[in-house]
Amino acid sequence: MAIATINPATGETVKTFTEFTDDQVEHVLARAASTFRTYRRTSFEQRSAWMQRTADIIEDEVDQIAEMMTTEMGKTFAAARLEVLKCAKACRYFADHAEGFLEDEPCDAEAVGAASAYARYQPLGPVLAVMPWNFPLWQAMRFAAPALMAGNVGLLKHASNVPQTALFMEELFTRAGFPEGAFQTLLIGSANVEAVLRDDRVVAVTLTGSGPAGSSVASIAGDEVKKSVLELGGSDPFIVLPSADLAKAAEVGTTARCLNNGQSCIAAKRFIVHSAVADEFERLFVERMASRVVGDPMDEDTDIGPLASEQQRTDIVELVEDAISNGAVARCGGTVPEGRGWYYPPTVLVGITPAMRIHTEEAFAPVATVYRVDSLDEAIELANATAFGLGANAWTDDRDEQALLISGLDAGMVFINGNVTSYPELPFGGIKTSGYGRELTAHGIREFCNLKAVWVGAPSGS
Ligand code: NAP
Repeated sequence: MAIATINPATGETVKTFTEFTDDQVEHVLARAASTFRTYRRTSFEQRSAWMQRTADIIEDEVDQIAEMMTTEMGKTFAAARLEVLKCAKACRYFADHAEGFLEDEPCDAEAVGAASAYARYQPLGPVLAVMPWNFPLWQAMRFAAPALMAGNVGLLKHASNVPQTALFMEELFTRAGFPEGAFQTLLIGSANVEAVLRDDRVVAVTLTGSGPAGSSVASIAGDEVKKSVLELGGSDPFIVLPSADLAKAAEVGTTARCLNNGQSCIAAKRFIVHSAVADEFERLFVERMASRVVGDPMDEDTDIGPLASEQQRTDIVELVEDAISNGAVARCGGTVPEGRGWYYPPTVLVGITPAMRIHTEEAFAPVATVYRVDSLDEAIELANATAFGLGANAWTDDRDEQALLISGLDAGMVFINGNVTSYPELPFGGIKTSGYGRELTAHGIREFCNLKAVWVGAPSGS
């Protein structure tokens, strides 16, 4: 895949980039290793000041950064602005909390016969981050901010269709004051990830992306006995039960499905509705999905821009055609619009059966499937009948049902009467083929730390 900015709204190639040579990659790795030796000794106070400055810069330049992201991957300018501001928030969150999250944890010294005993979090070294294009700044930032605050150094291999955002990230941290080499971008294709990951100077890897990419990277990391964190795909259920506020559920469900032009790992994808309210919910949901405005992502009236690449659109066209040819019905959408750009309309499919690919595969576009069930147990069973386990949404005002859903749904995140969202203050991640490990909060920053047990005996003579 060429490393290039291709505007999804027009299909035009805006700018192409040359992949790094072996010598350039070597230079980056050598610099990461040498920077780590001194960077790990910087104080939390110093790192925090640099991280706050990072937040200042992105807040000051929000419009330029947002426009770059919209040009590279097609999200609406409004959504891109929100993403940039969310990144600033994450920077400030880790600037404020990293030291507390990584404080020494006292252990029972007497029980282990020590004068003092504790556990200390220490940085690991250069960590490779393989990142996707869908939230080009946020995905990379939610790795970078905690990693840098912990004293690690970062190596970013971003998706090949967002090279400008990738290069901007390196420049951003340098401008904010971080030492050269603390955060570097590698302009390389996915075929060159293996060599970087096998390099002795790279100590760990995090990958956000598809299952096949995660599986490949995790295998190599396993072979090298290096720590890995995986944030992979999802097919989040959105359960609606009779006591729910149906209008609100339909409105939030529409937002949850169409978020980021439908290309979000935590988008609600499978709508599982109790038959007692299914007709009404479907009516409200289809009405809202059909009313979303598809168009130029720079236009402030647009709700949904184009899909990020021609391949993304080909994939969803095939998935929807497969469902329809096997008996599904499109209550809205389902056809490719005329004209340039990789647009796809909000689509609601009903009559889904296990014979259809969309029943088991992730729909990475604004395409919802709707199922009907007759009980809470059936809803939980269907929600869990997937290889994915990222997030889950459920709508009910009944406290007992809420408790059963919270404990019964096989997912890394459960949101009741709301849609799954990432916050610095909540752990983020999945189970099953959605990955392992967590990002954000104290759990996220500790993923790439050495938890060192320290045992200190009594001074001699005492
Ligand atoms: P992708 O093809 O897996 O690409 C993601 C990154 O991995 C890119 O940098 C890509 O580089 C690289 N890559 C691809 N194949 C690789 C391989 N064999 N070895 C090493 N690196 C490889 O994913 P995508 O289709 O762009 O992104 C969408 C997927 O990401 C969806 O499944 C979505 O649900 C998931 N996602 C998950 C989360 C989460 O937090 N759980 C968040 C966002 C997205 P190139 O671009 O150079 O190919």
